[in-house]
Amino acid sequence: MDNLLYNETELMLAKTVQDFAQDYLAPMAPILDEREEFPMENFHRLASMGLLGITIDEKYGGSGGGFKEFSIVTEEIAKACGATSAIYGSHIGLVLQSIARFGNEEQKSRFLPPLIDGTSVGAWGLTEPESGSDVASMSTTSTSGDGLYRLNGTKHFITNGDVADTFVIYATQNRELKSKGVNCLVVDRNTPGFQTIKQDGKLGMKASSTAELIFEDCPVPEENRLGEENTGFYSAMQILESSRIAIAAQSVGIGQACLEAATNYAVSRKTFNNPIASYQAIQWMLADMATEIDAARLLTRRASILKDMKEPHNKEASMAKLFASESANRAATKAVQILGGYGYFKSSHVERYFRDAKITEIYEGTSEIHRMIISRSIINQANNN
Ligand SMILES: Cc1cc2nc3c(=O)[nH]c(=O)nc-3n(C[C@H](O)[C@H](O)[C@H](O)COP(=O)(O)OP(=O)(O)OC[C@H]3O[C@@H](n4cnc5c(N)ncnc54)[C@H](O)[C@@H]3O)c2cc1C
Repeated sequence: MDNLLYNETELMLAKTVQDFAQDYLAPMAPILDEREEFPMENFHRLASMGLLGITIDEKYGGSGGGFKEFSIVTEEIAKACGATSAIYGSHIGLVLQSIARFGNEEQKSRFLPPLIDGTSVGAWGLTEPESGSDVASMSTTSTSGDGLYRLNGTKHFITNGDVADTFVIYATQNRELKSKGVNCLVVDRNTPGFQTIKQDGKLGMKASSTAELIFEDCPVPEENRLGEENTGFYSAMQILESSRIAIAAQSVGIGQACLEAATNYAVSRKTFNNPIASYQAIQWMLADMATEIDAARLLTRRASILKDMKEPHNKEASMAKLFASESANRAATKAVQILGGYGYFKSSHVERYFRDAKITEIYEGTSEIHRMIISRSIINQANNN
């Protein structure tokens, strides 16, 4: 961590989380990856350190702070265990943030404390089998009547889905209204007509659970709706806009892990009687990795500062997520290359980083969608000048 970029308190936070993550999360990461097992123990440890309450007001049990702190913590967790950072990012960036930003006082007091003290895991369901990037075409319906919404439909690829207790779900009242007909509802796992099915077989982030959510005439009380009726699409877009700053931080963490593994290997591995770090081909790969990771961290920092200042950050968050995720993937490819044949095996760790990195280019907006957001912003600005 850079003294120029971070203040004393932030450096202390980074050091505390780094020590915990390297001592506790990193040794377990390959084992959990192999077992594809949700690390409930990790989740509870994060809760006991107060890290699940970051970005949330103390009056709901949170530890305060903003996206600057959230990004610092996410980077350190991701450097040690990508899957735990995916679980952590969804829980805070998507679920807690949805409730904290769009819930009323009663909803915040009811839903936030168990999500912060670790008794409840959160999952956020937007994506459906027929609607991913094109969110407004969702087909899960919420039909209102008798003080209830009845949910029908299927969500898929939902992080934390098979272990979560508290779900933030988006459903349409009227498909023809597209983005203008969506509700955002908090759904309890034990609601009748609701079941989850684990989706195994992912490329990476294997210890993070991913699940399909199935709703069949599932009754959700009206008092569980976050925000006004039919405003769910806009709240989802606002949540994603800031949450992707955490995906950028996650990418920086994975990239940094790749750089450190590759550097350590390069100085110790000898070929033709010389450490491979003495060859320019290897040096240039390390230089490119280090430069891109630093640049990604700076973009992430800028986006988190803007978010914490309540300034517009749509373009900046997309730039950070796009560049950091693609940099992490380039760093992972180079790390495997630098470790040669060893890099192709699980025991090298970079094999896992390589697999974990890929999802950062896909979830919370694919790279193609972020290029659309960034270019649209630039073009709109030019048209308005
Ligand atoms: C491990 C994992 C965890 C996830 N966790 C969650 C979660 O917790 N909650 C949740 O709601 N969702 C989650 N998702 C879903 C994720 O956000 C979506 O997969 C992602 O948004 C892409 O949607 P899609 O898969 O339907 O792809 P599609 O939208 O079908 O896109 C397919 C391809 O077409 C491209 N494309 C689409 N539209 C355009 C366009 N207009 N111009 C150019 N190219 C385009 C895309 O970039 C992509 O390359 C998760 C996914 C995975 C794999």
